[in-house]
Amino acid sequence: MRDDFPLPDTDWEPAREFWAGAARHELLIPRCDTCAAYCWYPRPTCRQCKGESFTWTPMSGRATLFSWTVVRHAFLKQFADEVPYATGLAALDEDPSVRLATRLVDCDLSALTFEQPLEVAYRDLAFPGIERTVTAPFFRPR
Ligand SMILES: [Zn+2]
Repeated sequence: MRDDFPLPDTDWEPAREFWAGAARHELLIPRCDTCAAYCWYPRPTCRQCKGESFTWTPMSGRATLFSWTVVRHAFLKQFADEVPYATGLAALDEDPSVRLATRLVDCDLSALTFEQPLEVAYRDLAFPGIERTVTAPFFRPR
């Protein structure tokens, strides 16, 4: 296990551009150069046309809430200071079949609703005992 776990591995090739974009407060999703489909999670070939060339494309950061759960018990000790928090899937406005696993912030955890409008909100992931932080795209109600 990496010594900065549970931070995401921002050097992992398939998602490196995603994390580099987040550091600049840009939400980037790979788009197929052949058929223009968004392809999330990154993979070597397009699900629609089997194309193998993609361009990381800026998204508006607008989405709707597809599903969520409120975490009340930390399943890892590194999250002990974070609970309770909501984690869920944000369906992007550009293509609602593109759903990002994310955290929901700046919200009343008991007032979240299906298809609630969201917008991206960048936050630094930080954990006790780890010097490095990683900027991540979370979502909040809009
Ligand atoms: Zn394609």
